Amino acid sequence: MSENKARTGMSNTPRKAATLVTHGGRHPKEFHGFINPPLVRASTVLFNDVDEMKGRRESRYAYGLMNTPTIEAFNEVWTELEEAAGTVLVPSGLAAVTVAILSALSAGEEILVPDNVYGPTRRFCNQTLKRWGMRTSYYDPMDLETLKSGLEGGANAVFVEAPGSLTFEVPDLGATLELAKAAGAVTMIDNTWATPLLYKPIAEGFDLSIQAGTKYVGGHADVLIGSISASERMWPKLSATHANLGVQAGPDEIYLAMRGLRTMKLRMDQHEGQTLEVAKWLANQPKVARLLHPAMESCPGHDNWKRYFGRSSGLFAFELAGTEDEAATFLNALRLFGLGFSWGGFESLATLAELRETRSVTTWQAGPVIRLQIGLEAVEDQIADLEQALAAIAA
Ligand SMILES: *Cc1c(COP(=O)(O)O)cnc(C)c1O
Repeated sequence: MSENKARTGMSNTPRKAATLVTHGGRHPKEFHGFINPPLVRASTVLFNDVDEMKGRRESRYAYGLMNTPTIEAFNEVWTELEEAAGTVLVPSGLAAVTVAILSALSAGEEILVPDNVYGPTRRFCNQTLKRWGMRTSYYDPMDLETLKSGLEGGANAVFVEAPGSLTFEVPDLGATLELAKAAGAVTMIDNTWATPLLYKPIAEGFDLSIQAGTKYVGGHADVLIGSISASERMWPKLSATHANLGVQAGPDEIYLAMRGLRTMKLRMDQHEGQTLEVAKWLANQPKVARLLHPAMESCPGHDNWKRYFGRSSGLFAFELAGTEDEAATFLNALRLFGLGFSWGGFESLATLAELRETRSVTTWQAGPVIRLQIGLEAVEDQIADLEQALAAIAA
């Protein structure tokens, strides 16, 4: 960190987000004046002699798995954006979740996970973590008494996702942190929806901040990557776990993520505005029972959203006033919106949320939930597509 600060001539005043994402991690003078850091594909690094080889742990570059100018450039800008002590990169957002959990827990320990967590996170906890002798208990993120009793039971780590996957509840992040810290638990958050542009977990007190860079950082549906940033306290454990597991993002992916990052703020501002327009239009449609968008009053935890985020991105859901069959009719009728997973790219997407198998502490009793990712097409075209697909239900 301090080395990076010396290199960038950074002061302790954080740079404004738009300036940071465009200028961060770049050192043209080190690379013949070229604006972008080079894409270095590498395993071997050559040493001059045996002494240098023996001292490799101290050298900036020793092996391609650990560090290259490409890795270093991304980690430098992302660490600054996260206001963290350090960042590691991994090959997917899911790997960011699993490596974060593995860096915090030892065999015999327990993690508390919110009931509305990203499905594959739940699967990892229930299958792999369990097999390795680590326990998972689920809590209701909207009822912190359930978190409290888990902590009283001796849990060692608390996982947070805000807003919740598929149903977008926004928990009380401050109260969650306070409870976890009082119990001495390690805290981590999957911050993919907000990115550190809208919420800065480490500055707020989390130990680990997880980002599926596949979404807004990449931004073009052509890269899988994940990052984990850590507080001073967790950085040594995170970097050692990452090194020992041998998981590193590929150089081309890091390069694409860096390219995406340069326009991330611009894209997110645009996603936010269009998404609010679409959500407000949907709120007035008779077939829409409820908007699950954190910036809308109908969303559980809307007050928490106001307090901790104040801004939003391009992913939300709505509850259809209808049956599962009608939801399928609606989705099948979409023309501009694609049916597909992932999000954060330029194209609008829709999925049917499958909630029954993915909740164990809470139950979802409302109608079918449709999740939308609002892309960068003309907002009039997006609304027109939703309008004709809603009309298809009645037809
Ligand atoms: C997509 C997603 C992930 C996983 O990212 P991948 O790169 O697809 O593995 C993790 N958490 C959340 C909240 C996500 O939306």
